Amino acid sequence: MGLCEVITGKKKFHGGIAIPHCKNTAQCETIKMGVPEKVTIPMLQHVGEPCKVLVKKGDEVKVGQLIGASGKYVSAPIHSSVSGTVTDISKMVCMNGAYVDAVEIKTDGRQEIHESVKPPSYHNDAELLELIKGSGLVGLGGAAFPTHVKLSPPKEKVIDTLIVNGAECEPYITSDYREMVENSWNIISGIYILKDLLKAKQVLIGVEDNKPEAIKIMTNIANTSGKIDIIKLKTRYPQGAEKMLIYALTGRKVPSRRLPMDVGVIVMNVNSVSFVAEYVKTGMPLIKKRVTVDGPVVNNPSNVEVLIGTHLSDVFEFCGGFKEEPYKVIMGGPMMGVSQHSLENPVLKFTNAILAFDRKTAESVKKESPCIRCAKCVQVCPMNLLPLFLNASSIRRNTAGLKKYNVMDCIECGCCSYICPAKRHLVQSIRLGKVLLRKEES
Ligand code: SF4
Ligand code: SF4
Repeated sequence: MGLCEVITGKKKFHGGIAIPHCKNTAQCETIKMGVPEKVTIPMLQHVGEPCKVLVKKGDEVKVGQLIGASGKYVSAPIHSSVSGTVTDISKMVCMNGAYVDAVEIKTDGRQEIHESVKPPSYHNDAELLELIKGSGLVGLGGAAFPTHVKLSPPKEKVIDTLIVNGAECEPYITSDYREMVENSWNIISGIYILKDLLKAKQVLIGVEDNKPEAIKIMTNIANTSGKIDIIKLKTRYPQGAEKMLIYALTGRKVPSRRLPMDVGVIVMNVNSVSFVAEYVKTGMPLIKKRVTVDGPVVNNPSNVEVLIGTHLSDVFEFCGGFKEEPYKVIMGGPMMGVSQHSLENPVLKFTNAILAFDRKTAESVKKESPCIRCAKCVQVCPMNLLPLFLNASSIRRNTAGLKKYNVMDCIECGCCSYICPAKRHLVQSIRLGKVLLRKEES
């Protein structure tokens, strides 16, 4: 592949859908939100083992201080995003439905930095990995998988390709786009650190063709920096899903229940790559996040840099509040995001958007009717699954059926639910089916 041109991805994945992108905030430069009066920092913001709280009520804490950790490998430490006083250790419902500890901190507004925060040094790959682990980094595209685990493939898995994911195919979200436009040098610096670590031969940055400015900026910088290829991808949902992206960029197919490393690839989100560069420069762990704030009832849709643990209500308030009472608030995009039961829920490490919808928009996807066997869900499923049968198996709690129809291969993209004329709650029932099967297998 050449150095100075934008290459177009040649492979088209099966299925998927064309959806209105509603990227209203694409031109909204990131604005920093101030320090809120209090933050709530839960001890599970990643895939894996929750952290144990390392502080107690009444303790004074500083910015960047370690406040939660776990001895388990698949976990990620948690740091304070503010300076202030711990006012409570409470329980809250986290992303997987479990109750976890959460540290409440009343801020003092001084934002004093903890003594442990200083530019780190490392001498070898093992030390770099240890640093990345200590930074608390998880997949910032929404997956929340601990990055040090992803970057430590077993010795027998040879990684030849690092893919940097700038596809951002979910409607509304522009957080990755803004990173490419505003912090492209950081992304390139992060790429060089990770390329060396993984000993990858090639680096491919995949960006959908609805982001021409990002493609232009990334191409110009990549050209001055060495062999990195920017690949323009057709805008089609879910182009940014790991397996679809790998196929579109390399033609390699990740087999059922296997990982990208099984085909020699590691995929990292643009924001995660950029964070690595920033962390190596400053030593400041993951305490803030760019969040797209949008939706029909939000007064001033924006991209906001938010301290982790800030309550959603404070973020919406910062964006001018609501035009009317929101009927539904989603963390993440409308296709894969999770509906929020309270505006007092906090922004988490992997929060890339919070969206607020009016009743009419939210209810347009509510009423289910019986399946008419049109097979549209089958046509759009990028994983070649049979969503109607998964739905039926899940409703009947038929774990044999869930296994037979490969429920664990579902990437929860929501294409089936989106296209279904009977408005079947397909992806929700499939998520439930996965829980049933996991329970049975554990
Ligand atoms: S798209 Fe909906 S109605 Fe059509 S087969 Fe699938 S579940 Fe049934
Ligand atoms: S079954 Fe899963 S992977 Fe297939 S379209 Fe539905 S949500 Fe996406």
